[in-house]
Amino acid sequence: MSLQSHPSQLTKVRLCQGCELPVDVIDVKQGRSAYCPRCGTQLYQGGTPSLSGNLAIALTCLLLFIPSHFFNFLSIRLFGQMIPATLPSGIITLFNEGFIFLAFLVAFCASIAPLMVCASVVSAHIALKLNAFKLLKSSLWVIQHLKHWVMIDVFLISVAISCFKLQDYSDIFVGVGLYGLILLQLFTVLLLSRVSTRRYWEAYQHETDYTFEHKDVHCTHCHLSQPNGHRCVRCQNPLEHRKANSIQKTWAYLLAASIAIFPANLIPISILLTNGKRLEDTIFSGVAALIKNGMSGIAVIIFVASIVVPVAKILGLAYILLAIKFKRSVFHKQRMMIYFVVKWIGKWSMMDLFVISIMMALVDRGQILDFTPGYGAVAFGVVVVLTMLAAESFDPRFIWDNYREDKGPKKKIKQQESFNE
Ligand SMILES: [Zn+2]
Ligand SMILES: [Zn+2]
Repeated sequence: MSLQSHPSQLTKVRLCQGCELPVDVIDVKQGRSAYCPRCGTQLYQGGTPSLSGNLAIALTCLLLFIPSHFFNFLSIRLFGQMIPATLPSGIITLFNEGFIFLAFLVAFCASIAPLMVCASVVSAHIALKLNAFKLLKSSLWVIQHLKHWVMIDVFLISVAISCFKLQDYSDIFVGVGLYGLILLQLFTVLLLSRVSTRRYWEAYQHETDYTFEHKDVHCTHCHLSQPNGHRCVRCQNPLEHRKANSIQKTWAYLLAASIAIFPANLIPISILLTNGKRLEDTIFSGVAALIKNGMSGIAVIIFVASIVVPVAKILGLAYILLAIKFKRSVFHKQRMMIYFVVKWIGKWSMMDLFVISIMMALVDRGQILDFTPGYGAVAFGVVVVLTMLAAESFDPRFIWDNYREDKGPKKKIKQQESFNE
């Protein structure tokens, strides 16, 4: 899409990163956001909250990593013995039992990704201070790519579910680590809602410093609309109208995920040994057992997170890809909604794996009561990763490729204001 008009007017125009529609930049109040009138993508947040506020929150988060990771978040009394659980202890037990992939996945989503995002906010501030381009570029890359993998909220829900599952076997005590985790969650949510990579690039070099004759392409890294070229004039990342091989990559991840979903559901994901009895549970039989034990609420949560979410992601993305292939000319907005939902729900399927790691930390006591993951859990971890990668490799601008504006005089484009989520 090419846009040509007088250069002085052009500084106020930007291409939407979701559908490449040229939109006028207008002032939006603090606490509100501007959304694309056509596809609904969030374009920018209103007001100018200080970047130093982000720095303070990021430093708070980094400090909170200590209590949340090195103090017990739960303890149980089993056979008169107190067993504590810290976040790393579950991961270490998984690792020692040979489930290295699961250990890494849990560690990555619960600890490494949040830690790297918070540390990158701090290093982005250092980079701005020192005018260090490379440091700024890599810090913002980490923030942009890892923020979807920050899953402390999912982990907290998993702690609650583990408590319900264990209440029949033992007394449960809450530890300092849990308060640390809750505070860490609150501050990371605050941080992620405030941090925008665009704002950091704006602080490095402001949009209005560039005068373009026309704007043809939008840089998805620093959100500068500019003429066609090889690399972005501001952040030096390759400029692409569409992510390279986006459709092929998304198909590949989706096909692999739809194969892995069978072993994930058919092979047991957890094995519980109690009083010499061996209880093997698949995802589905686990849900059924929860209903039988009168925990229907938890059963619904697990059913939605572990069965509905992965299937819905695969079907939703496959539908979008097929609609692009067959050039469907209606319901673009609905497909964009599906894309937003698929991106948002993705992380919740990690819940069952977090529950497994918490159970590993607490219940690993040899003959009388023992808990290990089954290989179904590994297949399920593969499904989670593949569906996350599928959603991330998809470029939503493809959805709008065959969109036709209604005939008649072109409407003046205005941005909607709406409360920030
Ligand atoms: Zn748009
Ligand atoms: Zn750029």
